[in-house]
Amino acid sequence: MRVLICGGGVIGAAVAYFLSRRGIEVIVIERTGLACAASGKSGGFLALDWCDGSPLQALARRSFALHAELARQIDGDWGYRRLDTYGGIAAIDWLSPQARRQRRLGSTDSTAQVHPGAFTAALMQAATAHGAVLRAGTVDGLVREDGAARGVVVDDAVVSGDAVLIAMGPWSILATQWLPLPAVFGLKGHSVVFETGAGGPAHAAFVDIEEPSGDVQSPELFPRPDGTTYVCAISSEAPLPVDPAAVAPDPGAIDRLTAICRQLSPALGRAPVQARQACYRPVTRDGLPLIGAIPGVANAYIATGHSVWGILNAPATGEAMAELILDGAARTVDLRPFAPGRLPTFDPVRLRA
Ligand SMILES: Cc1cc2nc3c(=O)[nH]c(=O)nc-3n(C[C@H](O)[C@H](O)[C@H](O)COP(=O)(O)OP(=O)(O)OC[C@H]3O[C@@H](n4cnc5c(N)ncnc54)[C@H](O)[C@@H]3O)c2cc1C
Repeated sequence: MRVLICGGGVIGAAVAYFLSRRGIEVIVIERTGLACAASGKSGGFLALDWCDGSPLQALARRSFALHAELARQIDGDWGYRRLDTYGGIAAIDWLSPQARRQRRLGSTDSTAQVHPGAFTAALMQAATAHGAVLRAGTVDGLVREDGAARGVVVDDAVVSGDAVLIAMGPWSILATQWLPLPAVFGLKGHSVVFETGAGGPAHAAFVDIEEPSGDVQSPELFPRPDGTTYVCAISSEAPLPVDPAAVAPDPGAIDRLTAICRQLSPALGRAPVQARQACYRPVTRDGLPLIGAIPGVANAYIATGHSVWGILNAPATGEAMAELILDGAARTVDLRPFAPGRLPTFDPVRLRA
């Protein structure tokens, strides 16, 4: 059996890993570069129980456990570590007193982090060790025979397969041209990576701070074991470019974010900047991911729309998708809350008209 995975973000790489572990032939087709989008530019923060009480609870809890397991099973270092997590804060010495102290949000039992790009690369490398292939190319069509998916069109050539998975993050909306799927949107966020030096604390911080304009921002700060500190804030509704390579920060957004960081922490005030970036998280109309078989087209599947929890929830998504594709049903997590058929399909032709 050969499975074609469209999109080399963390979700595509996780599904590739769990499929290839079971001896299945997998081809991941990626347009721009592995983890070039949100999967390489996000915070990489993980929480055991922050999705409790929502339909994501089981997926998140299983994923949190799998992150620890994968760190033991797969060769490589993607900065996985447990953290203490704070909200508000002043008592942490790497933040200035302007940030208000509130409360502890998580401990090393319940919160952790990874470098998301390195995690995605490690999953893909492990999949490759089991025979998976990462292929450069733009998926721009689906091949159907007798109502079933039989391949995809990649840069005008047909690549045949026995199952097709759409995992193109916010660009999964392009697949509504070929498949009956609900809309997926992209919500933009900005981030800056500072070179703060080795020995940063195993802490994460979620802070509220007022800009001189009076706007309140809620930056998230994650020192990483590689000697950098990642900070994200400033969302925007700028439209998603069709080409992932064309994603760039909004004018002025990075200057605003850098100013917030310097206000927050003397350490960040002195640190050189390693990366100034923007990315889009994939979201659906009801805020829940789409994970499952696509109704009406045999052998076609989707896994996207993970919003702010895509890095956390990638492992259990990959594991459950592999079960669904190979065994006909997911065993480890109940995927029914994420069934693509729960939402109305998006019709790009009608929208254009
Ligand atoms: C600022 C920010 C901070 C975040 N922080 C966290 C966090 O701390 N913890 C957490 O769990 N989650 C976090 N997230 C969410 C997380 O990053 C995303 O949910 C996750 O990365 C989505 O992964 P994906 O694989 O679905 O999509 P993507 O990473 O967008 O990958 C999709 C891939 O598909 C490719 N592609 C697109 N079109 C085509 C095509 N036609 N053919 C082939 N390939 C194509 C793209 O090039 C891209 O590589 C954050 C998101 C943002 C924006």
